[in-house]
Amino acid sequence: MSRTTVATIHLGALRHNLARLKALAAPAKVMAVVKADAYGHGLERVARALNGEAEAFAVAALGDGLRLRAAGHRQRIVVLSGPDNARDITEMQRLQLDAAIHHEVQLQWLTQVEPARGRLRVWLKIDSGMHRLGFAPERVAEVHAQLAAMPGIDPEIGLLTHFSDSEAFDGEQTPAQIACFTEATGMFDGPRSLSNSAAVLGWPAARGDWVRTGGLLYGLSVVDGKTGADFGFRPAMTLSTRLIAINPIKCGERIGYNGTWTCPEDMPVGVAAVGYGDGYPRSAMAGTPVLVGEQRVPLIGRVSMDLITLDLRHAPAAKIGDRVLLWGPELPVELIAAQSGTISYDLTCGMTRRVLFVEDES
Ligand SMILES: *Cc1c(COP(=O)(O)O)cnc(C)c1O
Repeated sequence: MSRTTVATIHLGALRHNLARLKALAAPAKVMAVVKADAYGHGLERVARALNGEAEAFAVAALGDGLRLRAAGHRQRIVVLSGPDNARDITEMQRLQLDAAIHHEVQLQWLTQVEPARGRLRVWLKIDSGMHRLGFAPERVAEVHAQLAAMPGIDPEIGLLTHFSDSEAFDGEQTPAQIACFTEATGMFDGPRSLSNSAAVLGWPAARGDWVRTGGLLYGLSVVDGKTGADFGFRPAMTLSTRLIAINPIKCGERIGYNGTWTCPEDMPVGVAAVGYGDGYPRSAMAGTPVLVGEQRVPLIGRVSMDLITLDLRHAPAAKIGDRVLLWGPELPVELIAAQSGTISYDLTCGMTRRVLFVEDES
């Protein structure tokens, strides 16, 4: 029996999800977003699993592009935040990475691009309403002209924007952003990319030429009350551990730090070897479901660093050494996230170094 917390990454689910995304997004092509160590699933692992099928990858920063090239991936790779300094540009040319250009300061660095090192492919990033990264719509024509005049830049300039609320399928923000982007870019050729995962599901008008999907690739949904599985995707991570103790506790006794939960009767309390030191959320509320063997049982008391406590009143067959499943295909991570005041991406991204990663083909 191992008491290690194990994250099992399902390579078959990753491949299934990419195939489903391609079908949903067609005729647009799919950039597999693998930032943040592939949403906690492991950058190299995910890229290897998808290699034959992914037409392009998207990463947050240059370092991840370097890792993908070092692992031998030859696809197009888009660095979503572009260069962080002038030196990054030379490195992007060397590695043949596409750079998103979102700020004035990057334009200054770009004037130093040496065409002899190979033409840099760029995506002009437009702020259509999220107000995080991007040029204001009224500046797009001027910036586009500047980029087009630079000899070191590939003449096919991509056009990119990002949505703030695309999971709100009946909201007004996304149509406004689509309209803003369309108006700002109407006079230019070049590939367009607007949609993240939720937009692929809810906003077909925003397909463009490339969609940039992370969450759904891992089977994760951020649509309120919906799981990735509800849209035909499969979770790519199972997080599990073992039951290491079962203790009979008396009626009226308090469980765990600060005694936030009191036993309503004499009852068996289980202890499983996982905690916020592994990335299980400390904010998970009492009542958050956990699977012991086949049985769903509620978490009770506070999540501690290495351990959680469980109400085993409805799991009479539970025994020490049983597998305890925190999330996975049988228990949606979206549900655990909702019980913890966050989104599924936050949980999968939060796995710590002591979690053992294994792979299977399912
Ligand atoms: C993270 C990110 C995405 C992917 O979003 P998902 O909801 O995971 O599909 C797309 N575009 C940009 C700019 C991003 O930062």
